[in-house]
Amino acid sequence: MANPNVNEQGYIYGKFQTGPKTWTIMSRTSPQFVYLLIGDEKAALIDTFYGYGDLRQLVETITDKPVMVINTHGHYDHTGGNSFWPEAYMSEYATKEAKRAFGEELQKIAESHAYPDYECKVLNDGDVIELGNHTLEIIKIGAHSPGSIAILDKTERILYTGDELEAGQVLLGKAAVATHLETMLKLKAREDEFDYINSAHNGTHLTKDYLYDFIELDQRFIAGTATKLESAAGFGWADGSAGFGGGGDRYNYGRAHFVVH
Ligand SMILES: [Zn+2]
Ligand SMILES: [Zn+2]
Repeated sequence: MANPNVNEQGYIYGKFQTGPKTWTIMSRTSPQFVYLLIGDEKAALIDTFYGYGDLRQLVETITDKPVMVINTHGHYDHTGGNSFWPEAYMSEYATKEAKRAFGEELQKIAESHAYPDYECKVLNDGDVIELGNHTLEIIKIGAHSPGSIAILDKTERILYTGDELEAGQVLLGKAAVATHLETMLKLKAREDEFDYINSAHNGTHLTKDYLYDFIELDQRFIAGTATKLESAAGFGWADGSAGFGGGGDRYNYGRAHFVVH
């Protein structure tokens, strides 16, 4: 049988090891990353892309441990491949939107998988997940989506931030900037526990400086002194894009960018 993860352009997904017990998987369809964290007893997969190819088959080329799927939030670019597994863990809010496909084609793809009606299980702030000599903690955040969680890998000292902190642009509603500041401060309070940040889009293995720059950018926006750029265009984002409510203005401080709608 043909490999479901190969098309006319070659491999759909790339995989590379980025820590003693951590693999990064990237997609050719968008500048996006998911992460596989391996413990002695089980593995955790952080996010699952859109559902193209057969992500489970790819994951099983890396580990034969049982896989616990965790979603950083409920947007479909992070949950579409959940349906390769019987259950997925996420925030309560995310359970309400995780199965909402971005269009009919993706809905059909999900229905062709083994578990289109997979069970959504809830993670709460402070939950600890033990993979076997590899420990994770859930930290509730959420401004890009009220359903976001960060995942702190206490063993490998990495913070996973989903779409709440990333190197291209965080997409935010205007009213959510104050919440974004709160969540960045909540993560900063834990900064002695991680060495770098893995986000879901537009670059990975980010320095902590991003966190400091986002705090400054949020504070300046709230004070009305943030620098607005002429164009909202950025890596992975077009000026005037219809995505995330459409339009939007780009603001920048240092390494931090957000597009506010
Ligand atoms: Zn998102
Ligand atoms: Zn996303």
